[in-house]
Amino acid sequence: SEPAVLLNVNGIEVIYNHVILVLKGVSLTVPEGRIVALLGANGAGKTTTLRAISNLLRGERGEVTKGGIEYRGERIESLSPADLVQRGVVQVMEGRHCFAHLSIEENLLTGAYTRRLGRADLDAALERVYRYFPRLKQRRKSQAGYTSGGEQQMAAIGRALMADPRMILLDEPSMGLAPQIVEEIFEIVRDLNQREGVSFLLAEQNTNVALRYADYGYILENGRVMMDGAARALAENEDVKEFYLGVS
Ligand code: ATP
Repeated sequence: SEPAVLLNVNGIEVIYNHVILVLKGVSLTVPEGRIVALLGANGAGKTTTLRAISNLLRGERGEVTKGGIEYRGERIESLSPADLVQRGVVQVMEGRHCFAHLSIEENLLTGAYTRRLGRADLDAALERVYRYFPRLKQRRKSQAGYTSGGEQQMAAIGRALMADPRMILLDEPSMGLAPQIVEEIFEIVRDLNQREGVSFLLAEQNTNVALRYADYGYILENGRVMMDGAARALAENEDVKEFYLGVS
């Protein structure tokens, strides 16, 4: 049977600064327990789509002017980012955004702040993160600013995991990382999906790696969904190969 719909984005339009129309009617669905990739070139609107979902547009002077967003059947456009975290929707922003002066472990702990956990539960939550990211356990006392880009990306995902998410909005996890580290991170994403049932909406310019790990993909071009389909079908599609996979 088909999994339940977790997230449904229905024809959203987004305008920045009252005049710049960036999303021109984007619709997409994330079924429960799936990894969905949001693909497209730099500037296509991937980050804007994630920001619209997690209600982070206002700080960028952007707003959703048409369409709607539903999470588990509930309209969520008016919920604050903190409300969304409490409902299990957590965004990992592009560029990792660790607190450079805090240790890796302190960075992870900031991810649990909405949960009001006691010490024992916090320790259990940390151990869960360290099970998926053994490297973070080794580096837990290190100041985040002095760890590698890959470790910072892992810490950013681990921080999201500390909030006990049902769905992670993951923005460009491969950015600036060596191919081997990218694979390592995507393997962990797959593990989290398969073992914990966490769903992912994954914005990626790296079409190749995203389609190997995702179940389904949407390709954005200039603020519109130009194509969508099962990841395997997209990876075989001649246009996708030519324009996004660099082979023909
Ligand atoms: P990237 O890989 O760079 O994140 P993207 O597909 O995520 O690309 P967006 O960041 O969503 O694309 O940007 C889509 C368009 O919106 C771009 O043309 C960008 O210049 C524009 N844009 C983004 N943020 C703002 C803003 N705060 N004000 C005005 N325009 C913006």
